[in-house]
Amino acid sequence: MRIVMVEIIKDDITTLKVDAIVNAANHTLLGGGGVDGAIHRAAGPRLRAECAMVGGCPTGSAKLTEGYDLPARFVVHAVGPVWRGGDEGEDELLASCYRKAMQLAEEHRIDSIAFSCISTGAYGFPFERACGIALSEIFRALDEGSRVKQVYCVCFSDDDFEIYDRILSTFGQ
Ligand code: ADP
Repeated sequence: MRIVMVEIIKDDITTLKVDAIVNAANHTLLGGGGVDGAIHRAAGPRLRAECAMVGGCPTGSAKLTEGYDLPARFVVHAVGPVWRGGDEGEDELLASCYRKAMQLAEEHRIDSIAFSCISTGAYGFPFERACGIALSEIFRALDEGSRVKQVYCVCFSDDDFEIYDRILSTFGQ
């Protein structure tokens, strides 16, 4: 039996030595605040140069770049939805970010991947709801035979960590 680890951790995602970290980017991919800004600062100017060549990304999708000065080899830039009350397809757009990121992991033979909590900062997506969507999509991809062996869901605060860990336990983990 193949054992895949899904772990909730509290950390600065820019410090993680994994195959890929998943950025909560905006559609320009040219950097912003929050985790996006931290990733661009830590990766150095070559990341922005590659992102500029990529030419943007629609909401609900993701693009992969090198990690440059980061300990992670790749960055998956996922563009989550801005929360507008829940009736504008936000759940499906967020789910689609996680699906696309897991798909890119598959295509690039990634063993370990660390997700930031996409859309839950400046974009205002309710945190618990986002955790449930994230875990549903991650487990779906793993159940469908993804080659990924280690998934980290990275929280930036103690409160977020406690909530996310509790939601993981409802998934039978
Ligand atoms: P969005 O615009 O998609 O909401 P944010 O960057 O504002 O993206 O927030 C996404 C999540 O990333 C939030 O939960 C925030 O606490 C978290 N975050 C911010 N900086 C870091 C970091 N260095 N490492 C991990 N998570 C971070």
